[in-house]
Amino acid sequence: MSSFGKWSQQGVPKKGWACIGFEDLGEPSTQCEMCENQDIRYVHQMQHPDYPHILECGCVCAGKMEEDYAAASKRESDSKNLTQRRARWLTRKWKVSQSGNHYLKTDGFHIVVFPKGSRWSGTITRLGTGVSTQARRLYDTQDKAKLGAFDGMIWLKSH
Ligand SMILES: [Zn+2]
Repeated sequence: MSSFGKWSQQGVPKKGWACIGFEDLGEPSTQCEMCENQDIRYVHQMQHPDYPHILECGCVCAGKMEEDYAAASKRESDSKNLTQRRARWLTRKWKVSQSGNHYLKTDGFHIVVFPKGSRWSGTITRLGTGVSTQARRLYDTQDKAKLGAFDGMIWLKSH
C-alpha cells in the first residue's frame, strides 16, 4: 500500500502527522487520500505542519503517518464500540419515575427524558457534582430523545 498515491509523491511528508479528528461514515464511501487506493468508512483526519491540507485517511495509512498504528486502531475500535452501545441503548432497562418519565443511571450520570409540549426533551445530571445539562433541542419521539441523551452523555464524558 505504501507505494500508492501520495506515499510515492515528493513533497508529501511520510511521518510526523497528527490525527485531529475522526468520523464514522457508516459505510465505505470515500477514498483514503494518502494511498488513494482504499475505500474507507472510518476517516482519520490527519494534519502535518509542513503540508497545507488535512488528509482524510484509512486506519493503516493513518497509523503509518503518525507512526502509531495502535492509536489509529484504537480510534477505530472505540468508534465501533460506541456504535454498538448506541444500538443497544434503547433496549436497556429504563426505569420509570413517579412522574412517569423514563430514566437511567449509567456512567456516573442520571439521565431522564420527558415530554415538553408535543415533543421530547432530556436532562443529563452528573452524579457527584449534581450539575445538569438540558437537551439543546427538542425531539419528535421519546426514543430520539433517549438517543440524543446518549450522544450528550458521550460528549460530556470526553469534555
Ligand atoms: Zn490509505
